[in-house]
Amino acid sequence: MKRRDFVSRVIITGGAVSLGIGCRRKIEPLSGEKEKNTDLLNKPTGRTIKEPEKQIPILAETDVLVIGGGPAGTAAAVAASRTGAETYLVERYNHLGGLWTGGLVLPLLSTHAVDKNKNRKQVIFGIGGEMSKRLTDLGMSINEVNPVVDPEAAKYVLEEMIRESGVKMLYHTWASNVIIEGNTIKGVFVESKSGRMAILAKVVIDCTGDGDIFHLAGDNYDVMNYAIGLNHRLGNIDRIDSKKPGYVKMNIGGPTPLKSVNWVNMWGKENQDALDVTNLSKLQMDYRKEIWENVQKIRQTPGYEEVFLLDTASQLGVRMSRILDGEYRLSLEDTMTFKSFNDVIGISGAWTTMLYKGKKIPSKERPFWQIPYRSLIPKKTDNLLVAGRCFCFERELVEDTRIIGTCLVTGHGAGAAAGLAVKERKSVKDIDVRKLKDLLVQQGAWLG
Ligand SMILES: Cc1cc2nc3c(=O)[nH]c(=O)nc-3n(C[C@H](O)[C@H](O)[C@H](O)COP(=O)(O)OP(=O)(O)OC[C@H]3O[C@@H](n4cnc5c(N)ncnc54)[C@H](O)[C@@H]3O)c2cc1C
Repeated sequence: MKRRDFVSRVIITGGAVSLGIGCRRKIEPLSGEKEKNTDLLNKPTGRTIKEPEKQIPILAETDVLVIGGGPAGTAAAVAASRTGAETYLVERYNHLGGLWTGGLVLPLLSTHAVDKNKNRKQVIFGIGGEMSKRLTDLGMSINEVNPVVDPEAAKYVLEEMIRESGVKMLYHTWASNVIIEGNTIKGVFVESKSGRMAILAKVVIDCTGDGDIFHLAGDNYDVMNYAIGLNHRLGNIDRIDSKKPGYVKMNIGGPTPLKSVNWVNMWGKENQDALDVTNLSKLQMDYRKEIWENVQKIRQTPGYEEVFLLDTASQLGVRMSRILDGEYRLSLEDTMTFKSFNDVIGISGAWTTMLYKGKKIPSKERPFWQIPYRSLIPKKTDNLLVAGRCFCFERELVEDTRIIGTCLVTGHGAGAAAGLAVKERKSVKDIDVRKLKDLLVQQGAWLG
């Protein structure tokens, strides 16, 4: 078995065992007639048409521009704004949190890992730690380690933090192209109901998850196809009658902070291309049908009559797509050996069993690991930083790098670095990493 295969297998098991969530669904083939509907989605024709040139209004000229309001982007915007830099955050949907909230991916992994004395301890602090604490204080988070949160509460808390830190928030706005001079990014074109506009910025942070901005800027990257799912929630869980004759135990997902609501993690089809919109559209339709029909089966089972489909995620569950080719590629070896970096911007944890040097290392024994600033810096484009699930790491590490805790930490690091670069009038590549580390510590980050 190749290591990659092993990693995937371990992960699924790890999810199921440690979180009770890894319900891996079998996708039923659709009948011939129903297949026809999705055939309406053609692949691109291969022909092209010239777009006419036009003058574009400039919406704003700002210090820092963050694209994507997921865990990484929200943390980045808050961190940059707290340094005093004027900061815009652009998000295509109507909420913050990305997959954490809109994707109904509710457990914040991995808040804990093992230190050099073999003690398992909390590792996620800083802005991500603040988010987590505020959710706990609201009673909207369960479990101390790897907490499961309520998505609406998380949208509220993240938005409050954006409001309090003075970030200028643009929802319903899609970044569609970059403005480049030489090798330096100068801003981004956005599309919305107001039309096409430009936002100019001294530093841009790509937190799109899919690396849309470094792709448009012409940087190099790897593309990793992975399983895509569609998470959803079930209601009236507390009304299940297990004493009813004919009752059998069914897979109804895992608990959330609301006692009547469970969330269901859908693994979905393997090896999916998240950059092909026709594929995404087909998966969306197939999964909605599959989930609806599955819930009807649950409702027909004695004891489960009152269970209902509360919602399906507004964001399709894309696990991976582009991975930046950055100044430093974080490796599995680094994360297994307490590798120390001069330019560390944060620490992340471990939630799954990993194969390392032929040995399976369970999550409870795995060390915490440092993330270097250089892994957020593209090789080519200047004044662009990358945070979240598309920063620079080797594929073997995907399970630890794509999780919410790591995205929060990389976002915090990128936002603080952008703020510092603006303050010192330097390129993001030239900032003093000692000053960056001091700033991060002042902002509550833990650097090991
Ligand atoms: C099914 C599934 C289950 C998972 N389970 C877990 C789990 O249990 N625990 C865990 O910790 N992690 C889990 N993950 C991983 C984790 O949820 C994500 O990797 C993480 O949320 C990524 O954060 P991010 O900020 O990098 O990107 P995202 O969460 O993807 O956020 C990116 C944001 O950018 C916006 N955006 C994208 N492109 C543009 C654009 N061009 N213009 C404007 N806005 C844009 C998006 O709308 C989105 O809000 C899971 C993922 C999936 C798919």
